[in-house]
Amino acid sequence: MKAYYRLGLSVSGGPMKRRLMDILACPICKYHPLELTVKKEDEKEVLEGTIRCPKCNIDYPIEDGIPNMLPPEK
Ligand SMILES: [Zn+2]
Repeated sequence: MKAYYRLGLSVSGGPMKRRLMDILACPICKYHPLELTVKKEDEKEVLEGTIRCPKCNIDYPIEDGIPNMLPPEK
């Protein structure tokens, strides 16, 4: 599961570019589009922030430019 999401994201562009929001869907409910909150970014990518699924009420963190779209551990 973990490998699957990491691979999917690296294939689709690696670092968290804003345009990644066009293709990202919630890994749990497949909702799209998700809500991006940016805490820190440079001219190319979002470095820190959260990607929120309003349906699941879950925030997926973006750390060091890498979005962590793993479902929270239960
Ligand atoms: Zn969801």
